[in-house]
Amino acid sequence: MSSPVLKADEIDVAMDFDSLAAAGSMLGSAGIIVIDDEASLIGVLEKIASFYARESCGQCTPCRLGTSWMAKTVERLAAGEGRPAELDGLARIASNIKGRTLCPLGDAAAMPIQALLSKFRPELEAEIGRAAKGRG
Ligand code: SF4
Repeated sequence: MSSPVLKADEIDVAMDFDSLAAAGSMLGSAGIIVIDDEASLIGVLEKIASFYARESCGQCTPCRLGTSWMAKTVERLAAGEGRPAELDGLARIASNIKGRTLCPLGDAAAMPIQALLSKFRPELEAEIGRAAKGRG
């Protein structure tokens, strides 16, 4: 996933570059991932963050460090070891990657995470709370 996620009420949009850009996302290579309401959103964040941490070639610092920090943060949240406030740190890291890297991988790592954080914050906080209770 390398584009900003769209919520259910945002997906009634034509599958073309301009329409998806107007909806706040991107057509990219036209692949679609559908996430249902049973899915763990922390799990989705974890998959995205760990994928880009692995794929970063390490040439530029915001991507090399940022993707690794995002992956470690989300891994901790998924393990029930984090706090909801850490989502702010995650958002800061993503915004420090976006637009500051040598190739588009940095933006691709940051954009879906930024969109999930801004559109599903209450759901993410609730899930972090449940994960933390599960450990307690
Ligand atoms: S943004 Fe591109 S060039 Fe920079 S570290 Fe990431 S993969 Fe390498």
